[in-house]
Amino acid sequence: MSQSHAQLIDKYAELTIKAGLNLQAGQQLLITAPIEAVDLVRRVTHHAYQAGATLVTTLFNDEQAALMRYQLGQDASFDAAPGWLFNGMAEAFRDGKCARLAIIGEDPALLSGQDPEKLSRANRARSRAYKPVIELITTFTTNWCIISAATPSHARNVFPGLPEEQAMAALWQAIFKCTRADQPDPVAAWAAHSAALHARVKRMNEKRYAALKYKGPGTDFTLGLVDDHVWAGGGSVSRNGILCNPNIPTEEVFSMPHRERVDGVVRSTKPLSYQGSLIDGIEVTFEKGRIVKGTAAKGADVFRKMIETDDGAARLGEVALVPHSSPISASGIVFNETLYDENAASHIAVGQAYAQNMAGTAEMSAEEKLAKGMNTSLVHVDWMIGSGELNVDGVFKDGKTEPLMRKGEWVD
Ligand code: ZN
Ligand code: ZN
Repeated sequence: MSQSHAQLIDKYAELTIKAGLNLQAGQQLLITAPIEAVDLVRRVTHHAYQAGATLVTTLFNDEQAALMRYQLGQDASFDAAPGWLFNGMAEAFRDGKCARLAIIGEDPALLSGQDPEKLSRANRARSRAYKPVIELITTFTTNWCIISAATPSHARNVFPGLPEEQAMAALWQAIFKCTRADQPDPVAAWAAHSAALHARVKRMNEKRYAALKYKGPGTDFTLGLVDDHVWAGGGSVSRNGILCNPNIPTEEVFSMPHRERVDGVVRSTKPLSYQGSLIDGIEVTFEKGRIVKGTAAKGADVFRKMIETDDGAARLGEVALVPHSSPISASGIVFNETLYDENAASHIAVGQAYAQNMAGTAEMSAEEKLAKGMNTSLVHVDWMIGSGELNVDGVFKDGKTEPLMRKGEWVD
């Protein structure tokens, strides 16, 4: 049985509306997408209206235009950001009546080779202006979802040896497989997968580990969890009461590191794309939660500037465990896109923590959250540290340990 590309795109779009967003009748939907993804956007829009959406608004972006800013923009351009647009987006999400879909698929190396100083200024200006939006997203004020679309530039980046048409076909095939869109009933497949992640989350929450201990090539560190940490994964109920799957695909269970309790050395195992620049071969040393020494084999300037964004950018805001046998890892493809690569391997993220990963955050002041070890920053950047050679132990409050992962796989 072979399904046509158009059928698969349609199933993927339906999956996004039903399982990703769980869009409700009467909701609006805001989509951002690369212009090359217009065919997918149209099918998503079709399924959104079928689900009873009152209005679908799409903002298309064009990576060639993004590049022109670096080639032609005047100096003041690199401190500019469309705050008026982001404020409008925040207004849309604030009452939970507008859902948010981000379709990504830009060239991961679009801005590689541009002046790191300009990149850093532009990223900072954007992050600052985007803060009202990211706060509403990370606190799950509305139902949201991120998915990927194959675009010619991303496909060429992932499969440099293939002609564009074949590269596009290969990337779409990988996307359909990893998202389960190629299965007979993708929505049911996601319900089953999400239930399995919820079972793992429940087990992790019952353990009440004080810390995790990691050992792998170039990695030897201890990561303390906040005392009232909450493991999460799979579908989440947003504050407007809707169960959504914020990332498709997702394979992770994740929680909150204590911003002052991380010590040791960490080496990344896959490249990451940060705002159009590739960073690879990260090696850092943590002391009392802070990166005190850090370098990268590729994109070192961008990496250094990223962790200097603010104090929280050099501390951890997320810890996630992903088995090495995840379908994304099994695909053998390095996507150079965090949505996929972070679900191929256990990872950590510097920067902003997710409020859902600590009990009681809704009633806490910013000072209380900080005192309990929750990290805050303008950035949230995931990097992959998992591999088939990584061992992870759970550490209990009394110092006793037990094996949690061996050679990248769950022990039980
Ligand atoms: Zn994650
Ligand atoms: Zn993350």
